[in-house]
This record gives sequence, structure tokens and C-alpha cells, in this order.
Amino acid sequence: MDATNRTKASTTPIVLCSADLDSVDGHLTTDRELRQPETDCACADERVVTSPPRYEDTTLVSATPALHIDDLPGSYKLVSSPRSQAGVVVLNQSAWTIFTQFHQPAPLNSVAAMGGSAREVAKRMVELGILQPAGQPLVTERALSETLTVWLHVTNECNLRCDYCFVSKTPDEMDFERGKQAIDAVARSAVRNGFRRIKLKYAGGEATLNFPLVVALHQYAGDLAARHGLKLEGIVLSNGVAIGSRVIRALRASGIRLMISLDGIGEHHDTHRRFANGHGSFSRVARALDRLAQHGIKPSISITLSRRNLSGLAATVEYLLERELPFTINFYRENDCSASFSDLAYHDEQIIASMREAFAVIARRLPPYSLLGALLDRARLDTPHDYPCGVGRSYMVIDHHGGVAKCHMEIERTVTSVVVEDPLRLIREDREGVQNPAVAEKAGCRECAWRYWCAGGCPLLTYRVTGRYDVKSPNCRIYQTLFPEVVRLEGLRLLKYSGLAGG
Ligand code: SF4
Ligand code: SF4
Repeated sequence: MDATNRTKASTTPIVLCSADLDSVDGHLTTDRELRQPETDCACADERVVTSPPRYEDTTLVSATPALHIDDLPGSYKLVSSPRSQAGVVVLNQSAWTIFTQFHQPAPLNSVAAMGGSAREVAKRMVELGILQPAGQPLVTERALSETLTVWLHVTNECNLRCDYCFVSKTPDEMDFERGKQAIDAVARSAVRNGFRRIKLKYAGGEATLNFPLVVALHQYAGDLAARHGLKLEGIVLSNGVAIGSRVIRALRASGIRLMISLDGIGEHHDTHRRFANGHGSFSRVARALDRLAQHGIKPSISITLSRRNLSGLAATVEYLLERELPFTINFYRENDCSASFSDLAYHDEQIIASMREAFAVIARRLPPYSLLGALLDRARLDTPHDYPCGVGRSYMVIDHHGGVAKCHMEIERTVTSVVVEDPLRLIREDREGVQNPAVAEKAGCRECAWRYWCAGGCPLLTYRVTGRYDVKSPNCRIYQTLFPEVVRLEGLRLLKYSGLAGG
């Protein structure tokens, strides 16, 4: 931005928000489900929406309660409401002056006397949810997920022996007949329960060990989805050690996306993710990433953070930002298979310190895409939601025998099978396995200002640590400490990509 524009920018009110800037493949979109970064978990794609505000020029308006406000460089202000769809909002000084006129309720058009576009700016602030009509309580309702997400366990075998893995591996795999039966059942549940999209996560074990089946099933699912008017999305969850040119060609031809687990650079990855012979897998994954880049494929990267690889997080994030690879950071969750490795468990302070190192790297290399849903485990700061994941609502896990479970981390606890008419109905009705209460039902969360971004954390972890589902996450302190810092990174990103950084 040149000096003239900078001067203009300082006097003209400027209101920026995440929703203006975000895009999918370069196209602006407001579709939150498409914008969600990939994880190996059930997507948190139900939203909480507030009914549009009703107001006229004379309506009394005031600042929305429980806003998060921060100073940004260049006298910009960050203002955000965890209940708003707008994400993070950034105001310049002129816009901030307009905003501050509403610390006490005042008629919307009272700022007209300030001249220029002040009244229009105030209206935009109402639309973005940082101002609200006084005495008009926010009415929230839930927008149900339009996507039925399914973990399809195409093999129970793996070429790695990761210490935190929850799968008791065997050489068994899914065959085509069982896979077809599974996809038929998914389509039945999708249609019966009003979903518009199916997302198949081809997983295991290591899904690429049974890759011809993945390709054949995706073809079958595509035909079936088209017959039912459903959209289909496919993603392979892989450890990345066996991504050769055949797999790459098939991914390109089929449109199936790829998520690769990468926990660090060199030893910080190898400390978790080794072959059965004890050798680390980093060099193989790095080669696969280079090969994918040569073919123009950008996989999503899933980072799992435990005490062992904390010190390598900043370097890992730098490596991924350099390569413009989207990533998510997930905190290690103990399971029955991993419980004997006591050095995986972390203390809050350790995670917070390593996340801050990573945030410093991100602040230097802010990417063009939002990281609001990527940095803090199950939290999604890009959209208000009140369930941390789709477990028990819009998610099914189908094992290689056709058994249907609620969560991949409970894959051995099947509730039903693919032969029933509507397996999702039985998943939803189950009261034995993992339960997924809304954040308003969790003690400690009900009054939390961040609840619609956090939704209370992974219910399975909470239960494992506390014996209850209806309480706040054991990671709560980490989340509450770091939420403001994640929001700030988004504010910096908005400034950078709108050309205002340093203005
Ligand atoms: S887990 Fe903590 S941060 Fe998350 S909603 Fe509950 S109280 Fe808030
Ligand atoms: S219960 Fe936990 S592990 Fe299972 S899908 Fe939900 S967030 Fe992920």
C-alpha cells in the first residue's frame, strides 16, 4: 500500500472480517463445511447460528456482550464474538471510534453526525455481530450438518507401529463385497436422515496397503451418490510411507484427497512413528511429500503433539508453511494401546510453551488461508458450534468386517452393522458408548465465553480422564490460555492480506 492509500486508510473507516478473506481454491466462499481443515476426527460441522438482527435507523444498538478485544499493530483493533459467523473482525481507528459510540445503547443513526459512511459502518458492525440491537436477545439455533462423515476401515494392517495408535493391528482387510455393503448402508442412512453430502475417510491401519479397494469403492460410491443426488467427497488418511507414483496417479484420476500424518522433522516424527523394525519413517514421508509436490498435490497434514515431540513443533510448522501445506495440530489422546507409554502425556505448561513457539513462526509466515480451525486440537474458532465433533450425530465408523461403531478410537466397540436399514439411527440412539453432549450441558463450559468456538473438547478424552462426559475438557486451561493468541494471529493475517499490515 502506498503512502497516499495509507493516509486514506487511516481516515476512512475500515472493517475487515475473516469471512471476507477466506477462500477455497481461490474462490470466495461462505461454506463453512468446505473450509474446514482435515483431521482424522469426526468433523465438527454442525453450526450454531444466530437469527439475523432486526433493526432500523432509530433502533438502540450497543456492543455485543462478551466480545474479545485486542490491540493490533498500527493502531488497529481486533474485535470478535464467538457467537458470530463473521470470525475475527479488525477495525481501524476511524471504525473503532464509531464502534465506541455504542458502549452505551444509542440509536444506530446517532453516528450519522460523524459524517461520511459512519452509519453504514455501524450497520455493518451489527451484521457482523459485534454490535447488537439493545434488548433483542441473541436467538441461537443449530444448523444441522449436511455431511454424513464415515471412517471406512479398509484394512486393519499397517506398515508402522506408532506408539499412540489405537488400532490392535491384524492382517485382515475389507473386501469389495463388504465395502459395497458398507457404502450402500451409508447411502441409505444419508438419504433417510436428510444429508446432502457423504464424506468417506478411507482409513485403517494404513489405507494405501489396500489402495485398489479404495479406488474401486470410491468409483462405486460416486455412482451411488449420483443416483441419490448426494455429493461425494473422499479422503485417504495415510502415514505417507508408501505413496508411490501409482497411488499418486490414482488420487489424481479419482479426485480423492489425501491427509498425511507428520509429527515432526526427523527424530521428532520418528519418536512416534516407526516401522515394525524400529526404523523411523520421516525420510519416507518427506520423500512422499516432495513427490506429491512435483505432481501438484497438496495433502492436508495432521500433527499429533505429545510430550515427546513438543520441542520440534515450531520447526514442523515452519516446514509446512514453507511448503504451503494446510495442517492441523492435534493433542495426543491416551487410549488402551498407548497407556503404557507414560512419556507421551504432557503438562499444560509444556504444550502452551511449544504452541507459543509455533505461533511465533506463524506470525512471521502468515499463510493466505485461515488457521482458526487448525491450531487448537478440536476447537474451531472459525465458526460457532456446540458439539466438538460429529460423534453420535453425523459420524459412523465402519470396520473391515462391516461392524459400525461411533468413534474410530472405539472401533472395537461396534453398535450395529452395515446390514441394518439405517445404521446411523442406531448410532444416534446408543447410550452405551461414547456420548457427545452439547457444550451447554457440560459443567464448567456453560458460562465460558469461548464455548461456541471450543465446544468442550473431545468427549472420549474427557471421559477417560474424568469418568464423565458432561464436564469441561481436561485441556481447558490450554485452550483458554491460547484462544486469544490464535485469534490474534487471524487478526494479523487479515491485516497482511488486505495490504494494511504496518499501516
Ligand atoms: S473446555 Fe474450557 S475453554 Fe472449552 S468451552 Fe469448556 S470451559 Fe470453555
Ligand atoms: S470422540 Fe474424540 S476422538 Fe472421537 S471423533 Fe470425537 S473428538 Fe475425535
